[in-house]
Amino acid sequence: MGAVTARIQAPKGTHDLLPPESEKFAAVEATARRVFGAHGYGEVRTPTFESTELFAGSVGETTDIVHKEMYTFLDRKGRSLTLRPENTAGVVRALVEKGIQDVPKPIRLWYAGPQFRYEQPQAGRYREFRQIGVELLGVPSAAGDAEVLAMLFAFLGELGLTDLIATVNCIPKGEARAAFSRALQEHVRPHAGSLGADDRKRLDENPLRLFDSKDPETRRILEGAPATLEFLDDASRAHHEELKNLLPRLGVRFVESAGIVRGIDYYTLTVFEVASERLGAQNAILGGGRYDGLVADLGGPPTPAVGFAIGEDRLVEAMTSDVRPPRTLFAVIPDGPAEFLYALGVAGEIRRLLPDAVVESDLLGRGIGKGLGRASQFAAHPDRHAARIARVNAVLLGSREREADTVTLKDLATGAQATFPRAQLPERLAGRER
Ligand code: AMP
Repeated sequence: MGAVTARIQAPKGTHDLLPPESEKFAAVEATARRVFGAHGYGEVRTPTFESTELFAGSVGETTDIVHKEMYTFLDRKGRSLTLRPENTAGVVRALVEKGIQDVPKPIRLWYAGPQFRYEQPQAGRYREFRQIGVELLGVPSAAGDAEVLAMLFAFLGELGLTDLIATVNCIPKGEARAAFSRALQEHVRPHAGSLGADDRKRLDENPLRLFDSKDPETRRILEGAPATLEFLDDASRAHHEELKNLLPRLGVRFVESAGIVRGIDYYTLTVFEVASERLGAQNAILGGGRYDGLVADLGGPPTPAVGFAIGEDRLVEAMTSDVRPPRTLFAVIPDGPAEFLYALGVAGEIRRLLPDAVVESDLLGRGIGKGLGRASQFAAHPDRHAARIARVNAVLLGSREREADTVTLKDLATGAQATFPRAQLPERLAGRER
């Protein structure tokens, strides 16, 4: 093996998460587990790669995701595999494979994990990104859509995001969807000459996908397009009206918009996005909707379903509050190498006494003064430590302490300092955890 000469960098469109950033992601995921768990949702983990045909047959052949953005490769036996661009197809595949007909309904699942799309990287858009999502299967009524949206707002509220507004639309299904597609084609066809190649293909093959276009000319043509809501059959309209009736009563702020069609083929009826007003409308942090046909499309019995996927990277970027739980730091500072063993023993004892504290030994042996200086930074600068440090106590261990088997404890918030026998640690530390 030759020496590596050029410094290797992370692949384009990926980003590393190091502390404290990684701890913020972990805190968001812990909040998801708590809030979704309190609604009866259990975690599902599916493979990061799946058979390519799973996505072609669910997300849709003509969507940008499948058409342009998939990381597809052949394995050593020539099987076509794809790094998952989203997680719903994998979850449904897993349930069908397990025998969804035998799983008691409703089925409530959530997930968090990386997704992969070959997109042009820019702010908030990566090639490997993380999504947190929820799937509710087996509930046909708008009450299911409402539960999912209300739970979503509860989750985002816990993260300090309160300036939220959902945009909701209803996409016709079956014959009504075909009629809407035809009407859309009739509206756009006279302008076909000014469409780009991609959008012309969409016009012919899957006109609903025109709503995904970022081309300003296409967007302008769509402004006067027929509205999805005018094409709903009676049952779909009743579903949509019921949802609109439920949402405000559950504290979910929303507006209705015919322009939200969403870039995935499996959606039927309800689709929604949620934006934070502060971030601006183009920065949707999540999308979701109902996918009543997907389970059957993937070989299972007809099963209604609704869910959403949040872009976790964008979510963390949008958060202004620090959701890492506040911790007390015990900075254990041996004066020199002769105190290292003593320090490691005292640190272990404090950890056993205060399981929620962060107990860290400064093992550089550069003296108590320098160790104290470093420790005192953490409460003032929350991003210098992996944990969010609310309070700092220093445990000073010099030769005197080691020889007499004592401990000097200094509370950096008050400056109060006391030396006492190590055996007194339990009573001296009582109540110091927070
Ligand atoms: P989608 O699966 O396309 O409905 O996307 C759901 C959410 O995932 C979006 O609202 C974004 O927050 C996030 N997302 C989608 N693509 C990316 C990407 N390339 N980079 C970062 N986040 C993304």
